[in-house]
Amino acid sequence: MVDGPEMVPHNLRTFVVRALAGRRCGGGSWHTGEVSFERRNTRQIFVGKVPVGGGAPITVQSMTITKTADVEGTLQQIYALAAAGCDIVRCTCNEAEAAEGLAQIVPRSPIPIIADIHHQYKMALAAMEAGVHGLRLNPGNIRRPEHIKAVAAEAKDRGLPIRIGVNGGSLDPALYEKYDGLKPEAMVESALKEIAYFDEVGFTDYKISVKASNVPMMVEAYRQLSDVTDAPLHLGVTEAGPPPAGLLKATAGIATLLLEGIGDTIRYSLTADPVEEARAGRQLLEALGLRERKNVDLIACPSCGRAEVDVIDIANRAMAAFGDRKIPLQVAVMGCVVNGPGEAREADLGIAAGNKRGHLFVKGRNVAVVPEDEMVEALVEWAEFIHEHGTEAALARVDTTIAEREAAKDRAKMLGDQGDDANNSQEKIVEIRRTVSGG
Ligand code: SF4
Repeated sequence: MVDGPEMVPHNLRTFVVRALAGRRCGGGSWHTGEVSFERRNTRQIFVGKVPVGGGAPITVQSMTITKTADVEGTLQQIYALAAAGCDIVRCTCNEAEAAEGLAQIVPRSPIPIIADIHHQYKMALAAMEAGVHGLRLNPGNIRRPEHIKAVAAEAKDRGLPIRIGVNGGSLDPALYEKYDGLKPEAMVESALKEIAYFDEVGFTDYKISVKASNVPMMVEAYRQLSDVTDAPLHLGVTEAGPPPAGLLKATAGIATLLLEGIGDTIRYSLTADPVEEARAGRQLLEALGLRERKNVDLIACPSCGRAEVDVIDIANRAMAAFGDRKIPLQVAVMGCVVNGPGEAREADLGIAAGNKRGHLFVKGRNVAVVPEDEMVEALVEWAEFIHEHGTEAALARVDTTIAEREAAKDRAKMLGDQGDDANNSQEKIVEIRRTVSGG
């Protein structure tokens, strides 16, 4: 059989065409290393002072899980979310007490607040009265046209944005029936119906989400939606579940779309402390080069037969030590001084173990040697120094020849003890050949 365009699976053809179409859309581009991507052009709205769409930096959202009536508890969570990189936060507004809580929370919040409205349109009116910066309406829950239009008209008067938050799990039953189940087309139609009601009252200040817990379904729904609207899109995989599976599902859906240029704001919906959602969102955007790095990017080798230390433990302790500290450096934890400094030479700073010692290196150059049990502390101290004074100053504060000599000594010792093949690959290859040849 000959490979050719006709052999390309339909989905892939669609992807290629969309990717090419995206490049023509003029929505701006972003660069990461040698690679650049196009972003789809959307119009811009503001949630408080935070722009969404229209080439603005992609924002991270999360949602509090406290009772909104608990003002102090909710504010505490909002501050923790903001510290973890959350740009916009949503609070539930399901009852009068919640709306009253919002009236006290909004003026003290460091980031804009969106009220999540469930079934009662009056709660949307109450939330606006409380001073929130935006609303989220679920078209599957508030379905009476006069209620939708009353909320949109009020939002228009107050200059507030609304997210049309279609959710696969609470889709309008009429659409569920029309499409014989949950389909991307059904979610898109739900959003378009809501837009039509907004149009009737001249309200245009909206963004849209079409979330599903099924990743391919969600991806396709957003692709279809982005073909028919220039409204900013809020991305998410709903009910993704607890980490790590939830993180993977959400990342699969959100990252796929972002790399196609689709999406203006994101939320990880995890069954976890919401701070994890904010951190994940921020880290994804940084990993894709869509937001400037704020915190440490910790890279670590997977460990292997060469390592004489517990790399997983050291990497975890380093992660905990850096936490959410604002040190925008790439820091490497490597299991051995034989290969570590070379493999992580692009990192701003790193440490590699060998012969019961930790070898610190800056941009691949050995700079210091510390006892094995002080590796993490040394890493943090050097990261702080580089962040404050720069790489050149860090290299200038030590005599690198001493560190290089010590690293060479420990490298030679490890090679002497372990040989060139610490993972016993050659032995295994000989065994495989014997098995295959039946010897
Ligand atoms: S060779 Fe060294 S740096 Fe590479 S994976 Fe093994 S322990 Fe880590």
